[in-house]
Amino acid sequence: MKPKKILLVEDEVQIASFISRGLRREGFTVIEAYDGETGLEKAFSDLPDLIILDVMLPGIDGLVVCREIRAGGLQTPILMLTAKDAIPDRVAGLEAGADDYLVKPFAFEELLARIKALGRRGAAIEPEKPLTFADLTLDPNTRMAHRGERLIELTAKEYDLLELFMRHPNQVLTRDQIYNLIWGYDYGGESNIIEVYIRYLRSKLEAQGEPRLIHTVRGVGYALRE
Ligand code: CA
Repeated sequence: MKPKKILLVEDEVQIASFISRGLRREGFTVIEAYDGETGLEKAFSDLPDLIILDVMLPGIDGLVVCREIRAGGLQTPILMLTAKDAIPDRVAGLEAGADDYLVKPFAFEELLARIKALGRRGAAIEPEKPLTFADLTLDPNTRMAHRGERLIELTAKEYDLLELFMRHPNQVLTRDQIYNLIWGYDYGGESNIIEVYIRYLRSKLEAQGEPRLIHTVRGVGYALRE
């Protein structure tokens, strides 16, 4: 899976804008955070495909952010930016759970190459294994879903929505997260499109009276739960 949405955690505004501009020109969506705490929040709220994380940050530093991201169960590839020659930083970064590091200063092309490599590596390490939850199976290769032995036919959006839940089991996904991740910002918060699709999914998943798996979390969003 080629990374599309990148979270950039970098407090130096000039460097951040240099990286952001370049990545946007390459077609990536970039979310910026200028301190560790915000970076950590956005890692979990925006669920980026890849995180570029500076080690030296005000407040909690990049190593702590990296450890917290991993402790929270996110496997998102992390590329750490370290100071020149700070070898202990690099080792510590990898130990903290980063996937790769890049030493400052660097050429934008080098950053781009690392991002692409991480995308490829992610694809290689994580072959698209079927996702399972309870008696539900989703195969990303064929985009087919089964409940027990029963084949469930899904439209493209229904599949995307179910896959999102399957990749975040037991986690409450807010309406905003679902909008942003499945539909983009175009629909706005007023639309009831999420409710409509949740209803479609439930009717297909529960067609033979099976127990509900997609639960409403009142006032917040939805969660895949038993
Ligand atoms: Ca910094």
